[in-house]
Amino acid sequence: MDLSTFCRKALGIESPWRIGSVTVDDTTMSVTVHVERTKSSKGTCPECGATCSIHDRRDRRWRDLQWSKYRMFIEASVPRVRCPEHGVLNETPPWCVPNSRFTIGFEEYAVSLMLVASISAVSKLLDVDWKTLDAIMQRAVDRGLDRRRAHPVPVLCVDETSFQKRHEYVTIVSDGTTGAVLYVGDDRTEASLMAFYEALTPEQRASVGSVNMDMWVPYIEATSMGLEEGDRTICFDRFHVAQMLNKAVNDVRKQEHRAELREHGESALTGKRMSVLRNYADLTKSQQRDLQEVFAVAENTAMAWSIKEQAKLLWKYVSFHWAERAWNVWLEAAEQTALTPIIKVAQTVKNHLWGILNAVVFGVSNAMAESINSRIKMIKSRARGFRSRERFRRAILFYCGNLDMSF
Ligand SMILES: [Zn+2]
Repeated sequence: MDLSTFCRKALGIESPWRIGSVTVDDTTMSVTVHVERTKSSKGTCPECGATCSIHDRRDRRWRDLQWSKYRMFIEASVPRVRCPEHGVLNETPPWCVPNSRFTIGFEEYAVSLMLVASISAVSKLLDVDWKTLDAIMQRAVDRGLDRRRAHPVPVLCVDETSFQKRHEYVTIVSDGTTGAVLYVGDDRTEASLMAFYEALTPEQRASVGSVNMDMWVPYIEATSMGLEEGDRTICFDRFHVAQMLNKAVNDVRKQEHRAELREHGESALTGKRMSVLRNYADLTKSQQRDLQEVFAVAENTAMAWSIKEQAKLLWKYVSFHWAERAWNVWLEAAEQTALTPIIKVAQTVKNHLWGILNAVVFGVSNAMAESINSRIKMIKSRARGFRSRERFRRAILFYCGNLDMSF
């Protein structure tokens, strides 16, 4: 097989294109494959596929995958066609995507590397700049989004996350069944989430069974209005309630710790923060002994801790009625502690009990949302501060969108 036949096969060059010549340059360590188009006065519009007359030709150059130590390029004179409907446009040769200076093979490889390595590592490895990789990522995400079909979404998870400057937020909606991020919206307002509901088809909206979220009023309002019977789908997740209770227990511990120190100059509560906050079952034998020592002297911390532990048992109900009864008993016990931090949480729980009961009865787990959260943290640390919301959005969809980004 001669070199040009090999190039034709390797690059998948087909009629009306053919290999003209191949030049090897040992000083720049590059191989340039010159591709020619059979002479014709007609070309194809890249928009509509219509046969059109050729307007002029432009010399173009694409970078392909490296072959051993040689950097590979394709050069061709590409016709611009004049389409009656779309105007003058570049014809797209089969080895590239429109508006790219890279071959499909190169972009495919860059995408597969970006999925497993940091942008700076890929940039070094391929010797391309950040902007180029960003454009490749953008095209990959666009391809994936174009292929996405409207499918039913019985479980949705809504969350917010900040980027770069602490007070800039995006709203992330993911499919609780597959874990795919479906949408990334600006900010964390009612409108941020409303735009997602509005973009769903009526069938998709009707397919929503539960929407898992924290107790963020704008999301509650958007869901109530954006979905028919939205209130019945809203589930306040367990993690959020647990977080509030942990903070309350710690606040009680801190207050009691300060009081002990004031009174006795020492305290059994010193350095016991983790023992108080961890799951009892996760504690080592010595941590369990620590906890018992704490409880012997710190009555308030013991009470708060017991309320926090009791709340964990309230998520196991399947009947709405029994769940409601159990939560009400718990609320009463929480109020009886007369501990301000605990009473504050109880008040919040009381006001949102409807959505907590939805979550209990649906048996919703936030494991999926948690795993998406941790992947997004990884994206942030890999990219070291996104300068724009648009870039952040693109990266989330690229890594967490479960998109088909193939060519
Ligand atoms: Zn056209």
